[in-house]
Amino acid sequence: MSILQTPYRLTHWIEGASVVEDSSDHLTNVNPATGQTIGEVPIASARLVDKAVQAAQHAFFSWSTLPAEDRAHWLNRLADAIESELDVLALAETIDNGKPLWLSKKMDIPRAASNFRFFAAAATQFASESHSGPSSIDYTLRQPLGVVGCISPWNLPLYLFTWKIAPALAAGNTVVAKPSEVTPSTAYLLGLLMERIGFPRGVLNIVQGDGPTTGESIVTHPQIKAISCTGSTRAGQRIASLLAPGLKKYSLELGGKNAAVIFADTDFDNAVKETIRSSFTNQGEICLCTSRILVEQSIYERFRMALVERVKQLTIGDPLNEANKQGALVSRSHLEKVQQCVETARQEGGTILIGGERFVAEGSCAAGYFFKPTVIEGLGPDTQTNQEEIFGPVITLQPFQHESEAIELANRSGYGLAATVWTSDLQKAHRVAASLQTGIVWVNSWLYRDLRTPFGGMKNSGLGREGGWEAMRFFTEPKNISIRF
Ligand code: NAD
Repeated sequence: MSILQTPYRLTHWIEGASVVEDSSDHLTNVNPATGQTIGEVPIASARLVDKAVQAAQHAFFSWSTLPAEDRAHWLNRLADAIESELDVLALAETIDNGKPLWLSKKMDIPRAASNFRFFAAAATQFASESHSGPSSIDYTLRQPLGVVGCISPWNLPLYLFTWKIAPALAAGNTVVAKPSEVTPSTAYLLGLLMERIGFPRGVLNIVQGDGPTTGESIVTHPQIKAISCTGSTRAGQRIASLLAPGLKKYSLELGGKNAAVIFADTDFDNAVKETIRSSFTNQGEICLCTSRILVEQSIYERFRMALVERVKQLTIGDPLNEANKQGALVSRSHLEKVQQCVETARQEGGTILIGGERFVAEGSCAAGYFFKPTVIEGLGPDTQTNQEEIFGPVITLQPFQHESEAIELANRSGYGLAATVWTSDLQKAHRVAASLQTGIVWVNSWLYRDLRTPFGGMKNSGLGREGGWEAMRFFTEPKNISIRF
């Protein structure tokens, strides 16, 4: 597979074929590291979405009745195809998103392949329950839903696209999927790979487009039985409101404002090093990134100095240069949002310890959307800066006196996705982890992921869980059969 020649015009993939819709509008796709236009993304109309749904509906019977081993075979073939084109896919991801190429190669694309491999295995291992009584037995069938819709964001494009598609297919559904309009390229390339391996037609249909037109056409299509969407809380709320009248099943993975709780008894150097990683990996554009760092008062000064020293060492610039730790933010509008958030922090009385401004790279990246890693202190927990998701390389520091205060501060958020706890005291670790109102807590680590575990958030961070059996259960309808002897 060769790299996408720019400027390109992407197409949709319906029933195994590349599809162009004559009448559709287009969006301009920009390389955020250079600010240059790289191509056009079509906006699928409701008519085209319907065409994709009909293709998926047509394919449903044969796919859902295929033995699980055969479905697993096809998912593994997709994983093989992704691995064989790792370099091309990683380059496309970096050009679309601005993330460092080394990260696309090390994390995004390998994870897309392992999503398919993991759910290929899940397809063959998934089992349902039975309950026996003295004079009866009940057993539960877990049947695929039919055609389902998968909608994903721009921060981990192929990684999160496949994280939804793989369990949906493994459970026997057929899919209409839409990547983010900001990072559409790798989803398009996945369509090319399906064509190359002869993936069964109509089982996975990929439509390109925005939220209001294409996304909402998927969400409201009467034949689509369930929606899995990862994105902003605002989009999740809109989708839930659209789905309410039809009582359609949905799973929403939304925003976060994740706290790190750092106790004085932690392995100090490790906590500093890992907090840098949890705060600034992917320019802070991971829903799981830490954004509020809570540090026990007795080590606050030392921690603050060590953190700022390490931030100075984060190299920013051309994401194709593997020496750079940080790439560009995803778009001009996102850069402007992050700049505005830092301005708000200033107005709220925050002190910028480092960063706080745009980074101007050299050469071909001079017009890129880079922002310096930023550390802010002096802001109370209820400030806008400490309450609203920034989704960029911006963190705040707050001291705490006692364990109970740390828990209170960490939970003082409308979000509840993830948290980290740093301590050498095992009992404290268990106590604090159990008290945090988040779907995920990492103790003395960050982003360690076992794909069998439930993944998702509480409060405004979403509804439902992905991963392992949670995803297989979401994508199936349980039906109880009761037999009396
Ligand atoms: P976004 O909400 O703008 O878009 C996400 C996806 O939803 C896109 O494909 C978009 O086109 C689509 N969409 C938007 N409005 C829609 C609508 N009304 N109907 C149907 N589809 C619609 O989010 P984004 O800016 O692409 O991504 C960043 C956000 O995603 C952040 O808030 C981040 O925290 C969140 N996120 C959450 C997780 C998680 O697992 N909880 C993971 C990654 C990102």
